[in-house]
Amino acid sequence: MKLKLHWQIIIGLILGLGYGIVAAVQGWGMFTNDWVAPFGKIFLNLLKLIAVPLVLFSLITGVASLSDLKKLSRIGGKTISVYIITTAVAVTIGLISVNLIKPGDSVPKEIKEKLEATYQSAASTKAGAAESVKDRGPLQPLVDMVPSNFFNSASSNRNMLQIVFVAIFIGIGLIQIPKDKSKPILVVFEGMNDVIIKLVDVIMLMAPIGVFALIASTIHSVAGDNISNVINLLGSLGYYMIAVISGLFIHMIVTYSAILKLFTPMSLKLFYKGISPAQLLAFSTSSSGATLPVTMERCEEELGVSEEVSSFVLPLGATINMDGTALYQAVAAVFIAQTLGMDLGLTAQLTIVFTAVLASIGTAAVPGAGIIMLVIILEAIHVPSEGIALILGVDRILDMLRTTTNVTGDASVAVMVASTEGQLRPQSTPVKTL
Ligand code: ASP
Repeated sequence: MKLKLHWQIIIGLILGLGYGIVAAVQGWGMFTNDWVAPFGKIFLNLLKLIAVPLVLFSLITGVASLSDLKKLSRIGGKTISVYIITTAVAVTIGLISVNLIKPGDSVPKEIKEKLEATYQSAASTKAGAAESVKDRGPLQPLVDMVPSNFFNSASSNRNMLQIVFVAIFIGIGLIQIPKDKSKPILVVFEGMNDVIIKLVDVIMLMAPIGVFALIASTIHSVAGDNISNVINLLGSLGYYMIAVISGLFIHMIVTYSAILKLFTPMSLKLFYKGISPAQLLAFSTSSSGATLPVTMERCEEELGVSEEVSSFVLPLGATINMDGTALYQAVAAVFIAQTLGMDLGLTAQLTIVFTAVLASIGTAAVPGAGIIMLVIILEAIHVPSEGIALILGVDRILDMLRTTTNVTGDASVAVMVASTEGQLRPQSTPVKTL
C-alpha cells in the first residue's frame, strides 16, 4: 500500500530533523549546504513558480463565474471581516498567555546582556527594514495594491495582492462583455488552471525529499556547526517559547474548531486530514506564500471548497490573514517589555491588539517577515526596538509554528465561507488519496 502524502512528508521531516542534528554535531555544514540544501531550494522554487499563475488564472475564472458583482462583494466583505476578527482573537489569546506565563520575568540579567550583545547587529538590520515601512502614509497599502504595470507585479511573489487585484479586475471585465466573446478566453484560463492544479500534484511527489532538505538546512542555519548554542538558547528563552506555542495551540484548537463547528458541517478529523500536507509544508518552509498552491489544492480537492471561493479567499488570506504572526508579535512585544523591566498598562496592551492586527496584515508571507513588523508594534508602545535582539535566536523555530497557524487559519475561513455560501461539496464525497 502506498503511504499517504502526509505520512510521507512527516517521515521526510523527521529524517531531516535527525540528519540536521547529526550534521550540526558532526560539523557537516559545508556538505549540507552543497548537497542537501539545493533540493529544498528546488522544491521551494517550484512551489513559488506556480503561485502567481495559479492565483491569476483561478481567480479570473472564479470571479468571471460569479456573474454578479453583488455576490463578489458579499463574499469579500465576509472574508475580510472574519479574517480581522480571528486575528484580533489570536492577539488576545497571545496577550493572555504572555501575561499569565510572564516569561520576561525569568530571564537572568547576564543572559539578557549576552543575547543583546550577540544579536545586536542583526537586530538593527531588521529595525532598519521596518523603518522604511513605518515612514509610509496611512493609505500606502491601498496604493500598493494597484499596480501600474502588470508584468512588474507578476515578476515577484511578494506582489500577490496586486495579482489578486488584477485578476478581480479582469474577471469583472469578462463579466461585462458578451458571453460569446468571453467564453473562449475563459476556456483557456480554466484549462491553464487545471494544468497548474495538476502540477501541484507533480511537485508534491517531491515533497518528502524537499521537506527533508528544507528542515536539514534550517537546522544548519539556526545551529551552524555548534548545536550547544541552540540548546542554551532554548533553555534561556524556554518560557517565552512556551508562551508563544501554547497561545498558537489554543488558538488552533479553540478558535478554528469553533469556526468549523459553528458554521460548517465538516468534522475536525476530515479538516485536519485534508489540510495536513499544507500544514507540514508551512512548517517546513516558514512561508504561507510558498505553501499557497498546496493550500488551494487541498481545500479544493480534499475539503470540497469550490474553486470560486478558494481562489478568492486563500490568496487573500495568505497575504493578509496571519493569526499566528499576530499572536506571536503580541507575545514577543510583551516579553521584550517584561525583560527590559517595563510595565505595560491596559492602554499599551490595547495598542498591541490594534497594531498587531494591522502589522500582521502588512507582514509579507515569507520567512522572518513577522519580526520586522514587530518593530512597529514596539515603537507604538514605546519599547526600544533593539529589544528584538533578545528573541532573534529562536525566531526561525517560532516562524515555522506561526506559519502553520497562518495557513490553518486561511483554510478554516475558506471552508467556512464556502459552507455559508452553499459552495462546500458534501462530506460524503470520499477523500482522494495521492
Ligand atoms: N513566515 C510567516 C508566513 O509566511 C510570516 C511571519 O514571519 O510571521 O506566514
